[in-house]
Amino acid sequence: MQRRKFLKKSSLTTAGLLSAPILASCKTENKPENVPVTIVVKKPVAICTWNFMNATAKAWEVLEKGGNALDAVEQGVMVEEADVTNETVGVGGRPDREGNVTLDACIMDKDGNCGSVVYLQNIAHPISVARKVMEDTPHIILAGKGAEQFAYEKGFKKTDLLTESTRKQYEEWKKESKYETVINIENHDTIGMLAIDSNGDIAGACTTSGMAYKVAGRVGDSPIIGAGLYVDNEVGGATATGVGEEVIRTVGSFLIVELMRQGKSPQEACEEGVKRIMKKNEGREDFQIGFLAINKQGETGGYCVHPGFTYREYTQDGHENQPVESFYKK
Ligand code: ASP
Repeated sequence: MQRRKFLKKSSLTTAGLLSAPILASCKTENKPENVPVTIVVKKPVAICTWNFMNATAKAWEVLEKGGNALDAVEQGVMVEEADVTNETVGVGGRPDREGNVTLDACIMDKDGNCGSVVYLQNIAHPISVARKVMEDTPHIILAGKGAEQFAYEKGFKKTDLLTESTRKQYEEWKKESKYETVINIENHDTIGMLAIDSNGDIAGACTTSGMAYKVAGRVGDSPIIGAGLYVDNEVGGATATGVGEEVIRTVGSFLIVELMRQGKSPQEACEEGVKRIMKKNEGREDFQIGFLAINKQGETGGYCVHPGFTYREYTQDGHENQPVESFYKK
């Protein structure tokens, strides 16, 4: 066995010692003994699906003050839940085929605790209800009426989630009421967010109103732990956007975290995640999936089926919209 000596760098953006699973993934076999290996850990970091710059800015505000990753991801995605112009998350989300806006969300912390709400109506911040499920109940998932009742008991206010704009769009859609999955390759706006705080701890959150005009009762990947979101604080985290059925079929986010555990970078793991999905859908071009991942060192990556998916990243180095490579090139 080689003896590995790690140099400790002390600043907010770097860290020294890494946990055993990360050590296992470092390729140091050819290094002579006693040669110090420096592994720079970038932290804090906040990333989210798509270009939701206000959400990452909010998460960063929390992280910069020394706040924890869990608070950062919750408060970050709440920005999109409250934004009526984002028509696939929270207030202003598009309804199902019956005209009801039904929300899905989940959250996961550094200790593997998680909470989720599915088919939740009339509540503006499903992510905060999911956090309450995690923290105040012995359960992980609450659904529908039960979740709504629980939210009221926790002090959440009843809110009309349909806006003037989504009401009109729904009335328009009803004229033809095409009872088939509407696949809008460019218009999946679920927010999945991952953050690593200045302690080096990782948390994630994911929230959506799901696919527009879905069959009443449909639940996507976003509130399913392991599908739309997964965090393992020893390894990293992953989250997804796009057609949830395909993400569930591969347990996408869990798969990506496990691939990182085996030594893949976040980028490589996201690519493999998309390729697994495409293997089950050979030749199919009519759907979009975007994966996003972060590892324990604060490295990030993303990959998608079609061009157009990007992710926002906030670090000490800046606040960037990161381009993402795709399976299909155009
Ligand atoms: N993943 C979400 C769902 O299937 C939708 C999306 O990301 O647009 O519900």
